[in-house]
This record gives sequence, structure tokens and C-alpha cells, in this order.
Amino acid sequence: MLGLMQHRELLLSSILDHAARYHGDGEVISIRDDRSVSRTTYAAISRRARRLATVLLGLGVRHGDRVATLAMNSDRHLELYYAISGIGAVYNTVNPRLAAADIAYIVDHAEDGVIFVDPGFVHILETIATQIAGVVRAVVVMGAESEMPASKLPDGVALLCYETLIAGTEEIAAWPSFDERSAAGLCYTSGTTGRPKGALYSHRSILIHTLMLCGGDVAGLRAVDRVMPMVPMFHVNAWGYPFGVPMSGGTLIMPGRHLDPVSVLTVMNREKVTIAAGVPTLWLNLLNHLRETDAKLETLERVLVGGAAMPRALIAAYQDLGMRVSHGWGMTESSSVATWGAPKPATALLDRDGRIDEIATQGRPVYGIDVRATDEHGSEVPWDGKTQGELSFRGHWVASAYYRMPETAIGDDGWFPTGDVGVVDAQGNIKLTDRTKDLIKSGGEWISSIDIENIAVGHPDVLEAAAIAIPDERWGERPMLIVVPRAGRTPTHESLRDFYRGKVASWSIPDRIEIVESIPHGATGKILKTELRKVYAK
Ligand code: ADP
Repeated sequence: MLGLMQHRELLLSSILDHAARYHGDGEVISIRDDRSVSRTTYAAISRRARRLATVLLGLGVRHGDRVATLAMNSDRHLELYYAISGIGAVYNTVNPRLAAADIAYIVDHAEDGVIFVDPGFVHILETIATQIAGVVRAVVVMGAESEMPASKLPDGVALLCYETLIAGTEEIAAWPSFDERSAAGLCYTSGTTGRPKGALYSHRSILIHTLMLCGGDVAGLRAVDRVMPMVPMFHVNAWGYPFGVPMSGGTLIMPGRHLDPVSVLTVMNREKVTIAAGVPTLWLNLLNHLRETDAKLETLERVLVGGAAMPRALIAAYQDLGMRVSHGWGMTESSSVATWGAPKPATALLDRDGRIDEIATQGRPVYGIDVRATDEHGSEVPWDGKTQGELSFRGHWVASAYYRMPETAIGDDGWFPTGDVGVVDAQGNIKLTDRTKDLIKSGGEWISSIDIENIAVGHPDVLEAAAIAIPDERWGERPMLIVVPRAGRTPTHESLRDFYRGKVASWSIPDRIEIVESIPHGATGKILKTELRKVYAK
């Protein structure tokens, strides 16, 4: 017997409809490339998205078609998320920081017939024009007529102006309804190993992920919050904030391309940001700036972090500034959040250090996700906080295969192998120790590269650190530490090594240390260990 409740498909358009009707004056604030500030509301965005729907239909975009965006976080990118998915088409967020060849591959593989591009990224399309000419029929520049570049695109690819198209059209009357399992968004993994692979999110998966994200023990989003996602909208739906914030009616602050610490701090204070989300590198740079200048974060209450392990020292610094740090773990294939840190009755009364230790784990599985750590025989490892296992997960918003790569369908057991390695503690908190491809095995013992990095970043002279395995005749592998010092500091190898004593087993202490000016970062702001290995692990 079926229940007698109304059935409404779980569609993304319902989020924008809700925001426009019940939080119509809720603000979306965007920082443009020239640093001018655009202020709009959910009501206005909803109207413009409906016009954009007409524009898309006029450009021949139909249900299931892929439409690319090559853009930073902005109100216009938000309109596109909703307009493209709202008519049943699929927004394919393309990471402008990828190599041109990867961008060309993605556009071609996804068959993006129309590309929406920030004015500042048009040059990328010009570079790959010949490779994508057979696929793309229109390029829409996300700006006003005054921002239109002189076209160097091939014949047959129309170059159009976003604001002109919107101004010259009517709104659709209402968003169509269709199967909630329809694809809504397509995001390719950064492709540090092999070709980028597309995670194809459905309306249903994003909507359920959003409901989870808003929960009190997760991002806990409220209408009175002023939320700044510093994670880009081209990467895993900016971890879901473009959906969660409108759903809860909060103010959304879109930083655009200005993610240097001075700009971030200026915007946070001026726009009274209460919650901001980003990768550890961003938080690290901001903290360093605060320390160098004595500047203050005037309104920030919560630091949301993921994408890489947040070093304990960094967590402690923000907690001591009075902010609440929340650490989550996930990946492109899990639509963002798989685990999130929040106290349980057994840990709610921990002292400062205990609390920070808990935050330094990647947290516990949220409802909707099941995580397990297994040994080499496939058996689940004990929840003792010590035994390492390979992490896999399953859930309502976990990929079942990559787009147009049927051979990648997940096997019968239904568990997605994450490529991450970690331990689980008695509370179910997961602590990542490594990625399988970054593991360091020395004399038969595993050394956690994340631990080695975390400790180094706690050293008073260290800004950033990376640990990699280097081949060693006697031990198989040894850990090597690569360190960027803080401005004006010159840490010695001895002081660095001393700093590890008592914190890790003596054989885990890196014997080779390199002090460098900078460490390479990938397209999503994470340390590029592949590059470091090329240089050092010969
Ligand atoms: P994202 O960068 O948004 O997490 P990616 O798919 O690019 O998504 O990368 C996922 C990988 O990033 C994970 O498999 C894991 O190795 C790493 N990662 C994500 N969050 C954390 C975290 N909190 N701590 C350590 N590593 C993390």
C-alpha cells in the first residue's frame, strides 16, 4: 500500500521558487572582476533565471542537453545553475584553472553545445577554439555589452552577450516538472591522474544532499547567516552552498575571483560574513595575513573547511580567535559532504585540546551516507582509532558510474572506493591518514603523510608543508618533508626534526627536508604531490 502524501518531484527549481517567495528580499552579493559590488535578491534572481530559461530554449537547449559554465562564483553563475537545470538541461561546470587540453577534452566529452563564460575567461576558449568548434554553437559572455570582447572564435560559433539576451526576452511562466532522477549538473574531477571523469548529479541527489547540508550538525544554515562560499562553483557545486543558502534564506556572498587574503578579509568584514567555506590553503593564507597585519575578522563566526586535511594548528588558531571550525570530508563523486565533524554526547564536554583533536578528524558520516574502512581482505577494521583501512562509501548522493564511461559502473557490492585511507574512532569519527597513492611505507610501517604535514604546520616558522614518499634502498620508502617558511623566518632542519620528537614514532620523522619558496597547487587549491614527486622522488 502506498502512502497518501502528495508526490512532488524533488527538483532544484523548487529551491529557487521557495527562496523567491519566502525570502524574496534575501540578498546575493557578488564581487565582480573589477571589484565593483553587485547586490541583488532571490526574487530578482528568480525572475532573471526564468528569462534565462527562455534564452536557453531559444538557443536550442533541450531536456538532457549539456550547457557549460566557465565562471567564478557570482549571481549570474547562480542564475545559470537554476535556469539550466530548471528546464531539464544539465549545467557542466568547467574548471577554468585546468590545462587548456583538459578543458577542451571536457567540453568535447560532455558535448556542451552552449558555453557561458566570464569575460575574463574568454581567452581560454580562444585557445581551444579549433578543438571545440565542432561541438559548441554559441558562447555567451556573462556580462554587459560593454564587456564584450572582440571575437576570435571560429565561424559558426555565435558570440553573444548575457545581459542583452536576458533584457530582450520574457520569463517562462513556470518551471516544468519532470523525473527527479534527471541529471542536473555535471562536474569533472580535476584529473590529476588520467583524464577528467564526470560526476553526473541528479536533481534528487542534489536536493537530498542540500537538506542534509542545512542540518544543525552539518553546515547549520539559517536565514540570518551571511555565507561566503570561497570554494568555487566550478568545483563540486561549491560544496552545495548555492543550494543550501537559498533554501534557508540566508545571504549569499560570492567572492568572484578575488581570493587573496586581503580581498577575502575586506569582503568578510564589509559584508559582515558569519560563515565562510574553503580549502585549508585559503584559511592558512588568511591567518597568516591576520598575524602579519593585526587585522581582525570582525563578524566571522564559523570556519567551514574541507578538500584537504585542515592542520590541527590551523584549527587551534581559528578556535582561539573565537570561531567555530567544522571539518568535513568528501569528494566530487559524493556531491561534497560524506562526513562532518560535530560533538556527540560523549564528546560535548571535551576540554580545548580534546575538542581540537576531535575537529581535526574528518568527522562522522552524515545521515544518507554509509562509510567503511576495510583491510586488505575486505573486512571492516575495528573502530579503535588506530587500525588503518581503505575508505569506501555509499549513499543517496554518491556516484554510481562516471558520465559516458559505462565501464566505470560501481561493482555489485555498491561501495564507492574513495582512494583515501583512514582510521575510525569509537565515536565513528573518521580520521584520514592518507590517499592510497600518497602512502608512505617505511620498513613495513605506514607513515601518515597527513600527520607529518600537520605537525610541520604547527612549527612556529612554517607556513605550509607537504610530505611525500621517496624511494630508499634500506627502508623501501622514507618520508620527505617540503616546507615553505613563514615570511622572514628561516627554520633549520634540526629545529624541524626536533619538533617531531614525542609527537610521532622516531622512524616517522622525515630525514630529508627541503625548504622552498612555494609549493605547487592544483586547480582546486590542493597541494600537487604529483609535481613534488617528479622533482624530489627520483
Ligand atoms: P573536494 O576537493 O571538494 O573534496 P575532490 O574530488 O577534488 O573534491 O577531492 C576529493 C579528495 O580530497 C578526497 O578523496 C580526499 O583525498 C581529499 N579530501 C577532501 N576532504 C578532505 C579532508 N577534510 N581531509 C583530508 N582530505 C580531504
